[in-house]
Amino acid sequence: MSNYGMVIIGAGETGARAAVELRSLGWTGKITLIGEEAHAPYERPPLSKPTLLEEHNPSPAYILDNKQLEEHRIELMKGCKAVSIDKNNHSVQLENGQNINYERLLLATGAQPRRLSIPLSGSQSRFDTSSVLYLRSFGDALSLRRRLEPGKRVVIIGGGFIGLEVAASARECGCEVTVIEAGPRILMRGVPEAIAAIVDARHRSAGVQFKLGVGIAGISSSGGESIITLINGETLACDALIAGIGAIPETALAAASGLAIENGISVDEKLATSDPNIFAAGDCCSFPHPLYGGMRIRLEAWRNAQDQGTHVAGSMLGAKEAYAAVPWFWSDQYDLTLQVSGLQGIGTTTVHRTLGSSGDLFFHLTDERTLAAASGIGGPGIAKDIRLAEMLIASKAVLDPDALARPDVKLKVLLKG
Ligand SMILES: Cc1cc2nc3c(=O)[nH]c(=O)nc-3n(C[C@H](O)[C@H](O)[C@H](O)COP(=O)(O)OP(=O)(O)OC[C@H]3O[C@@H](n4cnc5c(N)ncnc54)[C@H](O)[C@@H]3O)c2cc1C
Repeated sequence: MSNYGMVIIGAGETGARAAVELRSLGWTGKITLIGEEAHAPYERPPLSKPTLLEEHNPSPAYILDNKQLEEHRIELMKGCKAVSIDKNNHSVQLENGQNINYERLLLATGAQPRRLSIPLSGSQSRFDTSSVLYLRSFGDALSLRRRLEPGKRVVIIGGGFIGLEVAASARECGCEVTVIEAGPRILMRGVPEAIAAIVDARHRSAGVQFKLGVGIAGISSSGGESIITLINGETLACDALIAGIGAIPETALAAASGLAIENGISVDEKLATSDPNIFAAGDCCSFPHPLYGGMRIRLEAWRNAQDQGTHVAGSMLGAKEAYAAVPWFWSDQYDLTLQVSGLQGIGTTTVHRTLGSSGDLFFHLTDERTLAAASGIGGPGIAKDIRLAEMLIASKAVLDPDALARPDVKLKVLLKG
């Protein structure tokens, strides 16, 4: 099998980082990066922010350009979809009929936007979803961008991160924006209520309207206009309708080849799947996290994609270390930066520390008074504290809630114990 190389399916954040790291770790054989998109690997976070706002024709923020691909001897197969895996013969079949053999295979297939579900026929509701836009790829961002003209009415279904980032960008483009959220508040997942309230207020001050705690009864569209009927009978007309209602891991290939699936492609602590020659990393996989007692989690976050891409390269070459990075996520909306490290839902008590005009920090403590997570909102200055909080989470230090609440007690000091 000596001429079989390392094959990566999915040329996104994780796939690109893994390919580069394989070379850095000394792998001298072939590295093939297979991606169904027409582009070299690019960053997705700008898609809901600068890509929508750029005055002139935007281009993707590439992670790897041709020079780097050449330098690292990474063969990028763009516009190529992998359609099946033959585990016994160590080969991947592409849509164009080609077979690629592998020594080790990485699945870095990411996630897809969750689609609005269409009520069954016979139901009172009618969903014409043909006009609904989603945001995952550069192509999606270009389609959306064309619709964000000043004065246009934009309705966003879903008050999560993507929906709110699009709302902020649409307001900056001069659109009239309404966000519909079925839950009682925005940012129901992963963010404490106090932070959600600050984000909510910032959006309202920018002119965004919210319809909270209300579901959708029907959608119809004609002549470029969509009409959304809410369950309470209210109707909204808009020129652009965007759904940001979460993402689902891309597991079709893995499932068809018999790999274990559990809220994503199920991997062990080294990121190996149920087949020892096949690995999975990034948005597509769920993994046991050692910091949280081995609890299986799946993350949809940029840094996790980077870190797992780097880590999995080592595992593909035989390293045995568990992936244990503290989860971290950020979102930029207007002049606000929001950062969360750790898993907020694990905490049982929350301690607030105000940083005055620089922002607010919230520490989420377990019953044992170790730090489960920290969330921050404000200006870029919060990044340093969230970084220190991340170290406190990893250290599992037992903390004094009063000290956490006091802005004069440096987190660095708590870290030293
Ligand atoms: C609009 C947007 C904004 C975001 N903003 C933030 C942010 O502010 N902060 C943050 O922390 N995170 C953010 N994220 C999340 C972050 O970008 C993702 O977590 C990260 O891109 C995941 O990387 P990945 O490589 O796992 O998946 P992806 O980047 O989705 O890459 C997977 C690739 O695999 C390809 N693929 C799938 N199946 C096949 C197949 N069968 N054959 C070939 N190719 C295939 C896909 O086409 C895709 O190109 C954002 C995401 C989006 C969409």
